Amino acid sequence: MFSKILIANRGEIALRIHRACKELGIQTVAVHSTADVDAMHVRLADESVCIGPPSSLDSYLNISSIMAAAEITDAEAIHPGYGFLSENAEFAEIVKASGITFIGPEPEAIRLMGNKVQARKTVAKYGIPVVPGSEGAIKSDKEALKLAKEIGFPVIIKAVGGGGGRGMKVVHAEPGLINAYSVAKTEAMQFFRNDAIYIEKFLEAPRHVEIQVLCDKHGNAIHLGERDCSLQRRHQKVLEEAPSPAVTPEQRNQLGKLAAETAAAIKYVGAGTFEFLFDKGNFYFLEMNTRIQVEHPVTELITGVDLVKEQIRVAAGEKLTLTQEEVVLEGCAIECRINAEDPQTFIPSPGVITEYHAPGGGGVRVDAGVYGGYRIPPHYDSMIGKLITWGGDRAEAMARMRRALDEYVIGGVRTTIPLHKRILQDGAFISGEYDLHFLERLLGGSK
Ligand code: ADP
Repeated sequence: MFSKILIANRGEIALRIHRACKELGIQTVAVHSTADVDAMHVRLADESVCIGPPSSLDSYLNISSIMAAAEITDAEAIHPGYGFLSENAEFAEIVKASGITFIGPEPEAIRLMGNKVQARKTVAKYGIPVVPGSEGAIKSDKEALKLAKEIGFPVIIKAVGGGGGRGMKVVHAEPGLINAYSVAKTEAMQFFRNDAIYIEKFLEAPRHVEIQVLCDKHGNAIHLGERDCSLQRRHQKVLEEAPSPAVTPEQRNQLGKLAAETAAAIKYVGAGTFEFLFDKGNFYFLEMNTRIQVEHPVTELITGVDLVKEQIRVAAGEKLTLTQEEVVLEGCAIECRINAEDPQTFIPSPGVITEYHAPGGGGVRVDAGVYGGYRIPPHYDSMIGKLITWGGDRAEAMARMRRALDEYVIGGVRTTIPLHKRILQDGAFISGEYDLHFLERLLGGSK
């Protein structure tokens, strides 16, 4: 086992990783920008190194600064968290070449899955259904039009190297296609420095369901059931739950088995997620995320498995601590992402947290990197924490979430807590019968 790990991230996930390390008896190194000197994980870490000015490009994305910090502190492994460098194959390669362990899959697996066209081809080979769409990247607007007509409108144009819900264009009919094609190409270049794009059938009202897998270096691969992430605004997840209210045990076992087998076949190591759209009883692969995800706690609460500790153990060469037969799903869990944003306009609301009281009691977990008197810097993502509840059934998980949201006090900045309260009171959400457009409808109705 490692004796010291460098955490190459910030915010709640940096703290989450710190906690896992401490429970495993591992020393932690926090790296931070000048804007994050007072961050909770920096205060708690055994050592901390400032890696640059506030801009992410100069700090959390600055590979040479991070590597220098790892070297001066003698860190044996680097945990990249999510976002930032977590799915950067080049970073994983550099870490490896420096004799430090990257806590994640091999660079080849990151690269393979980071290219969405290759990812589709690869998983299809192992029997995973994919959204109908182009075989490879589209070469011209004429090809795009021909393909769109074959698949049938509406279609969605995506960047081959895309991520974070950005740069996607939905096209409802032929006249809009050529223009959308060129805009998508320009944006893909801007956002992802790769202008390759592809086309998929746009599913009108699916759910977003994803399977968590865990694999070790000894060829063991298991799945831990699914999460339902259909509550989205502008392709960004807002609230997640596990298990999905729409998935049957048979569907879970079948898709989970396929996901675990595919992960084993590509020699995947660590935690990974296969994302699907679920429409009229059918699953369609979207992409694979080769890192820990924001919403991982809902899986942890229903399985009792600590995914971050498993990531660390597996990276150190240990075997998974459980077999597929030992994975038992119990109860239901819900996660609300707490963003420092206006709950109606979604305009970021950085600033000083004047008052802070986190909820507690049975079945409540708070993963947040903030405290009273903390100043939320304006330079980064506005998610400041996650409130997660567990219940013996969905009704209990919801009841606990309602009362935990009522208990949560975050003063001085605006947060999305009022939005979550609204969702938890909504009939469609309560019934479990909601799709990807539920939240946009709910928000539209309030204007
Ligand atoms: P990213 O990597 O940018 O997150 P994804 O391919 O995972 O992109 O898609 C993100 C979200 O976009 C999905 O959760 C879903 O809301 C929407 N989406 C993507 N593809 C489709 C599709 N073919 N039909 C309908 N919605 C889609």
